[in-house]
Amino acid sequence: MAAGLLGPAEVRDLAELLDVTPTKKLGQNFVHDANTVRRIVRVGEVAAGETVVEVGPGLGSLTLGLLEAEASVVAVEIDGRLAAQLPATVTTQLGADAAARLTVIHQDALTVETLPGEPSRLVANLPYNVSVPVLLHFLEKVPSLRSAVVMVQAEVGERIAAGPGSKVYGAPSVKAAWYGRWRTAGQVSRQVFWPVPNVDSILVAFEKGEPLGDEALRRRMFTVVDAAFQQRRKMLRQSLSGLFGGSAEASAALEAAGAAPTARGEELDVHAFIRVARQLP
Ligand code: SAM
Repeated sequence: MAAGLLGPAEVRDLAELLDVTPTKKLGQNFVHDANTVRRIVRVGEVAAGETVVEVGPGLGSLTLGLLEAEASVVAVEIDGRLAAQLPATVTTQLGADAAARLTVIHQDALTVETLPGEPSRLVANLPYNVSVPVLLHFLEKVPSLRSAVVMVQAEVGERIAAGPGSKVYGAPSVKAAWYGRWRTAGQVSRQVFWPVPNVDSILVAFEKGEPLGDEALRRRMFTVVDAAFQQRRKMLRQSLSGLFGGSAEASAALEAAGAAPTARGEELDVHAFIRVARQLP
């Protein structure tokens, strides 16, 4: 292991120093394996000089990897003890130059409205209980983001990257697809975390696409998507009847959008959902 990144001993020592007992509520599973950190940085194609936003830096395992790659990092952490310690950890492990490239924001990521430095990438080991809301929130609020690599619970990652017809395709898949292309980018062993989680993890990579519409259309489409997947097994003419003022009206709107009224949400791709959203009264 190269000097600078955190291994099991450093993670244990830091947690002890801060008197941190990782909590499930905040999804606190800390990476203590430098190879995993480097792999995330590599998959994220993090380059020198760019600004990366990291959600949930924790004890700093991934933050150090990003700074080691010569990126600037904006790190958003909800836990005050972890946020306060991070600059000191970076100074100790990588030196003052690296610490000068770090901005720590002590805040709930779900309440972030703007970020300094116009980050072009999001790279994070996300807290699992809020990973989808955090991703969608950042894609909405941080228009400078061009790409992302995040570690999430395997089931969630597969759902985000799924296409129509897949068993796991759902509202998060369509909403994520509004912003661009997603792919899974490799599994991660449970053993690289402390404490060891009881779910599997996966990397998911994102590349921003051409805008599919404006903010008003996005909101309308998300409303349609939520209704379509609320009861997965229902036909769209039923599940969208509330939005269109009746199932006959929903059928007409679906037909006008080129979708079968008898189809289910899982059969429509993001473009079809957009066409349906355009029919909303
Ligand atoms: N990045 C570190 C690593 O890889 O070891 C820690 C990852 S840990 C899975 C998730 C981190 O997100 C924790 O540090 C936790 O305190 C933080 N966190 C949880 N909920 C958050 C929220 N809503 N906003 C910001 N940070 C949050």
